Amino acid sequence: MRTLRTFWTRLGFLRSLRFRLTVSYVLFFTVLLVAIGLLFRGTLQLEMDGDTRATLEEEWAAAKGYLHIEKGQPVWVVDTSDPEEIYIVERLRHVYLLTDANGKVLENSQTYDSIGVDSPQEIQRILRTSTPEVHVRQDADGVPYMIRAGAIRGQRGNLYFFAMGRSIEGNQRTVDNFMRSYYFLVLPGAIFVTGLLGWLLAGRAIRPLNLVAATAQEITGSKLSLRIPRRHANDELDNLIDSFNRMTARLSRSFDQIRQFSTDVSHELRTPLTVIRGQLEVALFTAEKPEQFRDAMVNALEDVEKLSSIVRALLLLSQAESGQLALQKTDLELGEVAADVVDQFQIPAEEKGVELMARLEPGASAFADRTQMERLISNLLSNAIKYTPKGGKVSVHAGPDEVHGWVRLVVDDTGVGIQRDNLPHIFDRFYRVRTVETRQVQGLGLGLSFVAWIVSAHEGTIQAESHEGQGSRFTVRLPAGIATAPETAAEPATASL
Ligand code: ADP
Repeated sequence: MRTLRTFWTRLGFLRSLRFRLTVSYVLFFTVLLVAIGLLFRGTLQLEMDGDTRATLEEEWAAAKGYLHIEKGQPVWVVDTSDPEEIYIVERLRHVYLLTDANGKVLENSQTYDSIGVDSPQEIQRILRTSTPEVHVRQDADGVPYMIRAGAIRGQRGNLYFFAMGRSIEGNQRTVDNFMRSYYFLVLPGAIFVTGLLGWLLAGRAIRPLNLVAATAQEITGSKLSLRIPRRHANDELDNLIDSFNRMTARLSRSFDQIRQFSTDVSHELRTPLTVIRGQLEVALFTAEKPEQFRDAMVNALEDVEKLSSIVRALLLLSQAESGQLALQKTDLELGEVAADVVDQFQIPAEEKGVELMARLEPGASAFADRTQMERLISNLLSNAIKYTPKGGKVSVHAGPDEVHGWVRLVVDDTGVGIQRDNLPHIFDRFYRVRTVETRQVQGLGLGLSFVAWIVSAHEGTIQAESHEGQGSRFTVRLPAGIATAPETAAEPATASL
């Protein structure tokens, strides 16, 4: 078994695409050339037999001129002084048979004897047909002859059977010789040349594939910027190269995000850790009174809380995305939930100098999980406040959507906005926009991925619109609960997620 596998591995090139392409190419041409050979053989044979037949007809007509049947006996009328005529008649009588109507042989040549005299029945059958018959027969040595047999009339008008023939051995030999050189010289030569050509052509055809494979092998985590050059042939291979390049671009983005995320996480975790350590060290070495220890511990606890909230967010997202977070959906008044969250954000907004307003319409209920809805609104609100500079405005609107059966939550801000290029990626896990304005703002790039997960877990949609430097708007649409007031139907809005 093992030896077989080693043998198969050694013959690895036999499985290569190039080899298989060449073999198909050679097979195709072999079949084609054999078919052409057979066709050619048939045509050549027919052509040569046609020539013999025509000569036989001429000879038959000539023989009829020389042969007279007088009183039931054949007489060859020959000018004995003309050696050429004697020779011609001798040739005509080389393969010939003359019988009467009953099949009684009147005269025949030795060669015809060797072919075999026709039976009386056969002779009578041929005599009954008006036109002479041509057929092929073999002599005792297997030499083929083309025989022309038919009726001729004697002097008294009696019918006689007359047959004469010509050897077609030469024809067959010519055809056989030709086919032999075709099959043993031309065909192997042509197959060899086709194989060589096929091998070269197949090599050329798959060269770009090998290039793709070689580039793919070079691509590693640190070399994801490599791209395979397009051939500009706009063919299937170019499509493959495009898809491959797009895939590496996506991979490269994910790798960048993960790398960035690791940096962010370590940074986010390190800062509070350093602070906690500092506070504890100071307390340990300098604090004397119990109040001083107490203060240090309270501060340290606050930072520990911050740390756990980061870890919690990470854990939650991974639980959510792996489907471990069970939702408890009930009929929720969206306005009420939004009002609670808006209340919680009033103080942070005031501290930042951002005006926070809410327009919460009653009668908009969603079939949703309360905790996740609060998280969704609070993530959107916290972002809106985070990315809106002092003096800006943030507004929340909850109410029924224009589309019947849906409710809508809109969070608007007059903040820094998001560049058009970044907009499609903001819902990606760990994705953070890094501009001068946003660089100072702390975050992990997880808030919107969580929002996106909550929306899709509620079978809703979320749409983000933004104008750089002017502000952003996030619109969440959720299927309405039972208590929602019916609205007039309208065209559904396009959603980005
Ligand atoms: P982060 O923790 O960085 O806020 P998010 O997932 O919540 O992560 O948001 C992803 C990115 O989208 C942010 O880094 C930010 O650049 C951009 N973003 C989100 N909301 C807003 C907004 N209201 N205004 C401007 N940019 C925003």
